[in-house]
Amino acid sequence: MRPLCLEGCCPALPHWTDGVMTSPDLAQLDHLPVPSGRRVAVHVTREAERALRRGHPWLFDRAIRQQNHEGSPGDLAVVFDRRRRFLAVGLYDPRSTIRVRVLHRGKPVKIDRGWFETTLAAAAELRAPLRQQPAPRATTGFRLVHGENDSLPGLVVDRYAQTLVIKLYTLAWIPHLRDVVAALVAACPFERLVLRLGRAAQAGVADMHGLRDGRVLAGPALESPVLFQENGLTFEADPACGQKTGFFLDQRDNRSRVESLAAGRAMLNVFSYTGGFSVYAARGGAPEIVSVDASAPALQAAVRNLAHNRHLPAVAVADHHTLTGDAFQVLDQMARDGRRFGLVVIDPPAFAHQKTQVGQALAAYGRLTRLGLGVLEPGGVLVQASCSSRVDEETFCGVIHRAARDVGRPLQEIERTGHALDHPITFAEGAYLKCLFAIVP
Ligand code: SAH
Repeated sequence: MRPLCLEGCCPALPHWTDGVMTSPDLAQLDHLPVPSGRRVAVHVTREAERALRRGHPWLFDRAIRQQNHEGSPGDLAVVFDRRRRFLAVGLYDPRSTIRVRVLHRGKPVKIDRGWFETTLAAAAELRAPLRQQPAPRATTGFRLVHGENDSLPGLVVDRYAQTLVIKLYTLAWIPHLRDVVAALVAACPFERLVLRLGRAAQAGVADMHGLRDGRVLAGPALESPVLFQENGLTFEADPACGQKTGFFLDQRDNRSRVESLAAGRAMLNVFSYTGGFSVYAARGGAPEIVSVDASAPALQAAVRNLAHNRHLPAVAVADHHTLTGDAFQVLDQMARDGRRFGLVVIDPPAFAHQKTQVGQALAAYGRLTRLGLGVLEPGGVLVQASCSSRVDEETFCGVIHRAARDVGRPLQEIERTGHALDHPITFAEGAYLKCLFAIVP
């Protein structure tokens, strides 16, 4: 294989090849079921019709007035409006309350390998600016497909250098997997393909098709974590067992912002996972960094991620420590011990998976703000994020401001941000990531 050209000086290479010269063997996918030729015809309520026309990608079971037959996971469902005109076509999943996930709306189209190729080519094109960053900021880890927001609902594809990770959130993708993967080879050539399964897809899929979470579907076995570049920094990801697909790519731009605020500030990275924010803070000139997480393996990876970048002078002199434990308890103890930092990043997991959990989630965000301020020195920077799609930005930021006022340290907001370019948003629930940057007097 030709080495990856980080300089962008290899015009002979087609734009998306990244030096991959061989096509992976997809034989493992040969035994998978193929899409059924029988469509599920679905008639829906007026409300659902309106939502679909507005671009919402989900049709819930309760919105179906009538359908021609029961259908199996992955059947194509054709949605008709009340005047029996074509409205949309999508993937049918009888096991999910999201009964149809819309692939296309407007005029009828054929959903086949060619359609997947066109859709994936559009997704790849959207990410072109990331790929064109000059060598010092080279980025080879990014999200190629962001589900609904790239017209491929319930499907995520993340790229870590020459390894692609395809994550299915519904069984409905199984009969289309071969076509999608063949289209991926054309749109974004790769050496290795790893399969990940969301919770709903895991239930039952393993017995049915011999597929399992973390399986390498094509290319060489995974013997160690995969190395990739983000804004010129080197990170490792564990595509088979790591959280999400191995790395939190959605925070890329927020990590860059943290880098620009880090000079001379001791940094506390709470819920650090594998130390993404920590490595950026080190390059930005933070003299001391503490990464806190409940997961010991994640913190071991954080130590390695710092080590991968030790050739950079600022990273070489940064003093990095890790602390395994519950973030709430660690913050409380640190405050009592008189520990203070100039930059505190708090990026917890999603607290609200269901509507009923929103109240608890907001209380936890407020508590984290108070605890974070307890270890933030005067004039310090607070960065707090939420990835709960059920909590909107206004509510989230309101909770943080209130908590700060409650402890007598009102915030001066610097900015509110969301996801990076490779996580486009096309519907309200797609805007899950919110991040507030503030100076605290
Ligand atoms: N900031 C990270 C992503 C954080 S994901 C990045 O940029 O990559 C959320 C992390 O919170 C996970 O690593 C998980 O292990 C950790 N976590 C979950 N509950 C926790 C708790 N109570 N205390 C500490 N860490 C926790």
